[in-house]
Amino acid sequence: MAAAGPRPVRAPRGGGLSARGWPQEAAYRMLQNNLDPEVAEHPDQLVVYGGTGKAARDWGSFEAMLRTLRTLKDDETMLVQSGRPVGVMTTHEWAPRVLIANSHLVGDWANWEEFRRLEQLGLTMYGQMTAGSWIYIGTQGILQGTYETFAAVAAKLARENKHSAGSLAGTVTLTAGLGGMGGAQPLAVTMNGGVAIVVECDPSRIERRIAHGYLDVRAEDTADALRRATEARDARRPLSIGLLGNAAEVLPRLLAEGAPIDIVTDQTSAHDPLAYLPLGVDFADMHTYAKEKPADFTRRARESMARHVEAMTGFQDAGAEVFDYGNSIRGEAQLAGYGRAFAFPGFVPAYIRPLFCEGKGPFRWAALSGDPKDIAATDRALLDLFPENESLARWIRLAGERVHFQGLPARICWLGQGERAAAGERFNDMVASGELAAPLALGRDHLDTGSVASPYRETEGMRDGSDAIADWPMLNAMVNVASGASWVSLHHGGGVGMGRSLHAGQVTVADGTALGGEKLRRVLTNDPGTGVIRHVDAGYEQAERTAAEHALRVPMREG
Ligand code: NAD
Repeated sequence: MAAAGPRPVRAPRGGGLSARGWPQEAAYRMLQNNLDPEVAEHPDQLVVYGGTGKAARDWGSFEAMLRTLRTLKDDETMLVQSGRPVGVMTTHEWAPRVLIANSHLVGDWANWEEFRRLEQLGLTMYGQMTAGSWIYIGTQGILQGTYETFAAVAAKLARENKHSAGSLAGTVTLTAGLGGMGGAQPLAVTMNGGVAIVVECDPSRIERRIAHGYLDVRAEDTADALRRATEARDARRPLSIGLLGNAAEVLPRLLAEGAPIDIVTDQTSAHDPLAYLPLGVDFADMHTYAKEKPADFTRRARESMARHVEAMTGFQDAGAEVFDYGNSIRGEAQLAGYGRAFAFPGFVPAYIRPLFCEGKGPFRWAALSGDPKDIAATDRALLDLFPENESLARWIRLAGERVHFQGLPARICWLGQGERAAAGERFNDMVASGELAAPLALGRDHLDTGSVASPYRETEGMRDGSDAIADWPMLNAMVNVASGASWVSLHHGGGVGMGRSLHAGQVTVADGTALGGEKLRRVLTNDPGTGVIRHVDAGYEQAERTAAEHALRVPMREG
């Protein structure tokens, strides 16, 4: 057989089958969809997103998986070891059609150096979270996650009576960074009704975000930004403003001037001190300087981050809502000797954990038909199912207008315990009745309530100190296998790198059959359910209330 090589990849569309059943067909389409040039960052290298997160180990493995999926029977399961199909086993019709283990290393070996050595030998690949588990849907995921975080900020402000709207209307958010992920911030704030000032040192990033409709305007200078921001705030009109500058310079200045800022965060590339612009360095000189004098650059970048974080802490002292958005800026500022770096919290403990306690997480689905009308129909179904959920309704309406589909049309929204199962049941009925042109693949990010152990991110600061306990994602994966998911994945190192996280995923197909409906009901109840019980176990009262409401059994709370 000739060696397989890079080729353009696009998932088949429509209601016809290339495989023997829809669960196999869904895996066949979603694997290819992850490598669609509209979806993947470097499809020729099989890289989907997140550095080197891949969908298949090499082109030979990719073609072999497609070949196998086309002929896989309804009582067979394909085993995937770090992006390579290694076996087909006879199982049964309730079993997943694909089981995936990506990037695992034994504890003492779990570092990047050893991983890269083994990767070079062709023995493994980096699966990130949704790259190697075939449920990445492009930048919509980042936009929605950021939207959800800002919606949670608005809800917290409302709970604390600092702001009544339940949206960000009438508030000003100050942040920095308009890069790959940070670029979602301005749109996420305006979708929540607020005003955002976003500081960015690279003028091309500001122009790009305006061109793509993620950012509204560019300010002339700081005074212009503040004037426009306060006018829009007073009119309760959403507006996002790009401001060219160095955040380590602009934030302290705005603080000293007493600028009326309600919310402060940051998404500069602080996790990598060689990518953060130090004070006193021109943006044009940044890359050469970082390359030629990395130690000097790092020291100056860290010192600048300390000034940046000091200003963020100052805003907090002045009454603003301040949080770290997962870019390690607090840790870097601490390394530079700033003593109050951890005065403000990370975004997961502050806003996401209360959602996790309700079983909420980044639920998503893709229309295997390829027809955007199918997603529009599911959008309408959700609005009908959850009429009282304002933030969900706002997201669904605005996503319908603003989000451009990449690859197979898809939708993401955060749904909780009970809600996911209700949505799954409705979607399966819509497939059965012919309202949708073809089945749907229902899955989620690995960043979910019960499916991840990641002490620097999703499980930072757990109430009982269980941050690094990794039994939970294992139980989550096993329960999804036992409940009828179409494919289940267990990964290592997604989001935060080797040795720092373990996480699991599932995708289940709404194929319109009674069996498909039964599987969906179990998976979409038990999958978020493991998150609720994980948080009950850690002592969160909100999770106890959710468990009680949904009759989730927790033996240690019984008897
Ligand atoms: P990126 O490298 O694409 O963009 C970073 C931007 O920051 C660049 O446009 C750069 O010009 C700008 N920048 C650098 N130094 C600056 C300075 N001193 N002042 C103003 N602007 C400056 O990175 P990205 O993909 O957008 O991610 C940003 C950070 O946010 C990363 O650290 C990422 O890990 C983090 N993040 C975390 C989560 C999470 O934890 N879930 C989510 C989103 C982003």
